[in-house]
Amino acid sequence: MECRIKKNLEDCPCTYESCERKGRCCECVAYHRQNQELPACYFTTAEEKSYDRSIENFIKRRGKVAWKD
Ligand code: SF4
Repeated sequence: MECRIKKNLEDCPCTYESCERKGRCCECVAYHRQNQELPACYFTTAEEKSYDRSIENFIKRRGKVAWKD
């Protein structure tokens, strides 16, 4: 499968422009997952700018647990 980095970059809402994982969604998800976080695309524009990607922040913003195990 061909990497879709160009398309991913067009759609990526992350404002942390210097991140080496930007557009590399598989690396982005893995990085945040290992830190018990979620990628920028799980947050609204305003939330994303806080750079608080914690699962706790996501749940707090949504008011409920977002997924099942
Ligand atoms: S969400 Fe995190 S890993 Fe992904 S591009 Fe933004 S800062 Fe980098």
